[in-house]
Amino acid sequence: MSKFRPAPRWQPAWRPFQSETLGNRALIAVERAFKGPVYGCRMCGNCLLQETAFICPMECPKGLRNGPCGGSTPEYCYVDETRPCVWYEIFDRAFEMGREDKLLEVLPPLDWEKVGGETWGDVFRQTQQVGFGNFFAGMRNPQTRPQTWESVFGPVRQPDWWQGDAEYHAPAYEEPASELERRLRAGEFVVTSEVAPPMGAGTSKLVRDIAMIKPYVAAINFTDCPSATPRMSSQACSLTALQGGAEPVMQIAARDRTRVGVQAEVMGASGLGIRNLLCLSGDSPAIGPAPRSRMEVVDIESVQMLWILRRMRDEGIYLDGRKIKNPPMYFLGAAASPYASRPEFQALREHKKVNAGAQYFQTNLVYETQGLEIWLDSLAKRNILDKVYVLIGITPLKSYKMARYMNDDVPGVFVPDQILERLENAGDREKEEGVQITLELIDKIKGMGGVHGFHLMPVMWEAIVPRIVTEAGLLPPDFAAPENHDELIVGG
Ligand code: SF4
Repeated sequence: MSKFRPAPRWQPAWRPFQSETLGNRALIAVERAFKGPVYGCRMCGNCLLQETAFICPMECPKGLRNGPCGGSTPEYCYVDETRPCVWYEIFDRAFEMGREDKLLEVLPPLDWEKVGGETWGDVFRQTQQVGFGNFFAGMRNPQTRPQTWESVFGPVRQPDWWQGDAEYHAPAYEEPASELERRLRAGEFVVTSEVAPPMGAGTSKLVRDIAMIKPYVAAINFTDCPSATPRMSSQACSLTALQGGAEPVMQIAARDRTRVGVQAEVMGASGLGIRNLLCLSGDSPAIGPAPRSRMEVVDIESVQMLWILRRMRDEGIYLDGRKIKNPPMYFLGAAASPYASRPEFQALREHKKVNAGAQYFQTNLVYETQGLEIWLDSLAKRNILDKVYVLIGITPLKSYKMARYMNDDVPGVFVPDQILERLENAGDREKEEGVQITLELIDKIKGMGGVHGFHLMPVMWEAIVPRIVTEAGLLPPDFAAPENHDELIVGG
């Protein structure tokens, strides 16, 4: 992608939704004619160019405005492999220019009333407020230049309803919001595990799987339509877990909701007693089944979701500013991707998630320790490992074919050749070899600094969880063996 952007853009510039005055239409046309070719501008009306190294982030097919997703690679965008990842470009240029700290500011979702419109008018009006004389005087003096510039562009970038910043906001409550948080605060090395939501409306297998896994883990995750493929909702599964006496983690993907839907959904979840949330942008429909849903923009993404949900809980306000009489209560988590884009880029993205409100991470799949160490080291350098609990994502491999698929087709996953060869040469003992690989990996990682537990994602192999947790020596301190424990830990 050239530095100068007359090259074809992947997404057309937006047009205003409502009719504009002649004067405004003229201003919009001039702004589009200049910023389009120069910056690849999509005319979102909520300009971020200064924060994104003068590359328009709105070319990201997920509409991300706060950094690269977990599928970002140096070569291409995982949603559309015919184009590079625009966020990788932005981070690469910002680090090159020494402006990476500008990337830490939590940036707002689009104000759709402004989309397709101009931003120069906002800049003009804000400069009028500051006073043109003051502005030019302040810009002439290198001492006052940064704050003068910020006095105009800050309010344009950060509207009153958002007030994003680059600061850490500690959770504003005392007692742990959930059992999972209580265990982590108590210093327990925890295991959480996924149970796959059913494809149909029947819950008998779901109830069985929850009952089987419950004694072995601190909490059970329910995914939210992974790979943009519809299945039973995470909220329904989380409620089923609560009714079964288990501790649920409700995953919530921004992909399928607007800012209105997200706020309503978490209020409902909190009202039902669901106390752990995992905030995700969500897999793009591009990797889901046809006919595909809307692909080129999302209303909010995971960083923005964390910001909104933290303020609902800690400040008792909705995004629109209305006060909440009974604010929701939950322990907020986010996904992290040690192997996407570059470790220092992902570490900055994770730093931003912690500032926005993430209290724990459940990482994407890990199959080796070298890259994991670099990522943890990057987080340590950013002084955030004391502000977030890190649970390492592990999926036991059932076969060479599965390992191959994970490495080649799942965004943000790297399986070393050594593991691929072991499985390829294991013949009909593949599954057992996969279990041994998992146990060895857990053994290597559990002693690493900054790691507070594991998040098992058994991908429809829930039966293996009791054996892995037991053989890895990770049983919860208050473990009570179920009657069929010996059966459960054999084979799997
Ligand atoms: S890889 Fe992710 S962040 Fe990068 S352009 Fe694609 S969707 Fe956006």
